[in-house]
Formats: sequence, C-alpha cells, structure tokens
Amino acid sequence: MPASREEGGGRGEGGAYHHHRQPHHHFHHGSHRGGSLLQHVGGDHRSHSEEAGDEQPGTPAPALSELKAVICWLQKGLPFILILLAKLCFQHKLGIAVCIGMASTFAYANSTLREQVSLKEKRSVLVILWILAFLAGNTLYVLYTFSSQQLYNSLIFLKPNLETLDFFDLLWIVGIADFVLKYITIALKCLVVALPKIILAVKSKGKFYLVIEEVSQLFRSLVPIQLWYKYIMGDDSSNSYFLGGVLIVLYSLCKSFDICGRVGGVRKALKLLCTSQQNYGVRATGQQCTEAGDICAICQAEFREPLVLMCQHVFCEECLCLWLDRERTCPLCRSVAVDTLRCWKDGATSAHFQVY
Ligand SMILES: [Zn+2]
Ligand SMILES: [Zn+2]
Repeated sequence: MPASREEGGGRGEGGAYHHHRQPHHHFHHGSHRGGSLLQHVGGDHRSHSEEAGDEQPGTPAPALSELKAVICWLQKGLPFILILLAKLCFQHKLGIAVCIGMASTFAYANSTLREQVSLKEKRSVLVILWILAFLAGNTLYVLYTFSSQQLYNSLIFLKPNLETLDFFDLLWIVGIADFVLKYITIALKCLVVALPKIILAVKSKGKFYLVIEEVSQLFRSLVPIQLWYKYIMGDDSSNSYFLGGVLIVLYSLCKSFDICGRVGGVRKALKLLCTSQQNYGVRATGQQCTEAGDICAICQAEFREPLVLMCQHVFCEECLCLWLDRERTCPLCRSVAVDTLRCWKDGATSAHFQVY
C-alpha cells in the first residue's frame, strides 16, 4: 500500500509525503536518517514537509486532498485549455478585433465627453462635433462592413440575417448592438452638452444626463431578449421542446427582475427631472459672502448667485450643482450635503456589457 501511494504521489513529492506520514515521535529520528534524502530533494521541499507536519499527524482532510487532485488535474490540463483558447481566439479573430476597436472608441468618447461636461460653459462645440462624427463613422463602418448580416435589425427587435445562431453568433450580435446603443447614448448626451445656456442652464444638465442614461440602460437590457429566446429555443424546437420551455421561463423570470429594477431607475430619474429645483442650500446674504472672502472656493472667482450650505460654506449655485452631481459632501469641510448620490449626472455612460 505505501509503495503504490508513493507512485501515485509523484516523484518529487514522494519523499515529503512519506516523511509527513510518520508519527510525531519518529519525526526527529527520521529526519536524522532521512537527512541526506531531504538534502537531495531541496530546500523548498523541506519547508513544505514542515508546513504539512504542522497541520495534522493523521491523514489529511478529504476535502483538502480532493482540492489537491483538482489543482493537479488543472495543472496538467492547463496547456490544453490554453491551446483551445488560442484556437478559439484565432477562429474569432475578426470579431475580437472589432470588439476591441469598438471598446476603445467607447472609452475615448466617454472620457472626452466627461471632460467636456466638467468644462461647463467653456465646453468646445468643435470637440463635441468631433465626438459625434467619430462615433457615427465608427458605427456606419461596422454596420456597412457586415451589412450582409443586417446587424442593425437587432436594434429594432428584429432578427439579423444569420443562417445559424450558435453561442458566438449570439455574443457577436448582442455585443455589436450594445456598443451601438452606447454610442447613441453618448451622442444624445453630446447634444445636451452642446445646448447653449439660454436654452438649458448648465446646472440642470446633470438631470438630463441621468434620464438619458437610465432610459438607455433599460433599452439595452430589452434588446437581447428576442435573441436569447431564439437561441434558447433553437431552430428545431421539436426535439428539446420541454427543456427549451423550462429555460425560457427561467430566463424570463430573471430578466423581469432586472427590467423592474431598471424601470424603477427611469422613474426616479424622471421624477428628479420634473422637480423644478433641487434645494442644496439657501440663498446667501451679502454679509455671508463677505465673511466667506467674496471668492468661491470651487471656481476661484467672485460669487455668482451664491448659495450657503448647512455647514455655512458659500459657493456659486452653478459650481455647487456641478460639484454635487459627483460628490455628496461639502468641498471644504466634507460634511454631508446630499443624502443620496445619483450616479450618471456627470455625463458618464455605463461601460457594462449587457450580454443577457
Ligand atoms: Zn464658483
Ligand atoms: Zn462645508
């Protein structure tokens, strides 16, 4: 029995394992005799045997040995998994390249738009036009290149023109649709940024970004539904009708929870949009402004329509609104100024990839 165990344990670990199996009072004795063996095996194996000796003198826990077996199996299988992955990547190299391109376009447009939002009045219309043209060019290029697949159909809840629908086709269609919808979201926000302040004051633009983002997230979670239904049911629904039906019900259940949450988000955003003005603070008196040094700590200029917070710090109304679109606290003393922070008011677009 010990002989077979040693064979099974592998050449390298055999010495250490054998050593660990010995009762404790034999340990020192054995280490003297087995010293030369341990020296052959090497320093790191000696430390391994000492660590193992600390745990338990008896047999190792079954869970632990199973874990070791799994790790061993993974180690042996890892090269083959990597080969398989490389083959898959090579097979879908075009799709992966397109997705990387679209993701970097999204990241660039998203960060440029956020920068423009933070510039307030000084936003450049040229930069905004450039973002719009860049996004439109990118979208049209991708849709034109794959025009035979009619990928744009998935945006209006129709089926793209593909003969089969396997898992990678599903990922491909859903991914492209998601990116295009993100681009449209950014483009809509660009239009809001570009609006002059006569039409829409800078301080209330945050609410519009929020509404656009919430509606976009709801729409993005609706688009994959029909594709998933088709994928789950398959082309010939006769042979696996029952399984398909069960999976469809499960999918619909999970999906409805997701959609309920998103509808709630849209409703909250719309409510915020309809409330005429958020009251972050009260109008500051001339005396309060003089006490604050007549200089706004955010824009480093004279106060314009100053507001005073609960903590008695005074800021311009516009500066304060933009600040509180991103933070919850007073910029000077960090005391809490708003109860809940609504994300997405700074013009950012969620990078979340809506797969399901
Ligand atoms: Zn200011
Ligand atoms: Zn303060």
